[in-house]
Amino acid sequence: MISYPVFLSLGSNLGNRAGTLRQAIDLLAQVCTIKNQSSVYETAAWGNPNQPNYLNQVVEVTTSQSPAEFLQTLHVIENQLGRTRSGKWEARVIDIDILYFANQIINSPELTVPHPYLTERKFVLIPLVEISPQLRHPVVQKKNEELLRVCSDPSVVKRITD
Ligand code: AMP
Repeated sequence: MISYPVFLSLGSNLGNRAGTLRQAIDLLAQVCTIKNQSSVYETAAWGNPNQPNYLNQVVEVTTSQSPAEFLQTLHVIENQLGRTRSGKWEARVIDIDILYFANQIINSPELTVPHPYLTERKFVLIPLVEISPQLRHPVVQKKNEELLRVCSDPSVVKRITD
């Protein structure tokens, strides 16, 4: 069976944020193989300064599911952790996004991969570079570490755990 390397961005800004990230990784471990995980970082909420700060982490997994199936799996995990889908910029218990799915380029109504905000947001790029500096973005054709070097996001992203 083919197994694909996938990079996920996890974010939480409600409730026990660090505990929720750990639970999300425990639930992921039941449905795919965890290969690597970044430190946990804290960042001010994007798009809405009145929200609590986010904790963010990037996790590398492998899965033999298709991208569409894997997205469904992630929604199940988000729901298990109490995510309710409200407005786009609302606070959330957990958000799990697919950053890269092998070197696939996907533009379907449900899924855009590589994730469009990957190149724009330091809360994604900093943890991603920590675990995978050399991986090349299949559209932009730059390595993650190069993407971080040219990223103009002014946000402060603070590492809070190893
Ligand atoms: P959000 O509310 O930020 O979790 O966005 C959820 C929706 O974004 C999902 O229902 C997906 O269909 C869609 N989406 C598009 N591209 C991606 C991606 N790369 N990873 C996760 N969700 C995605």
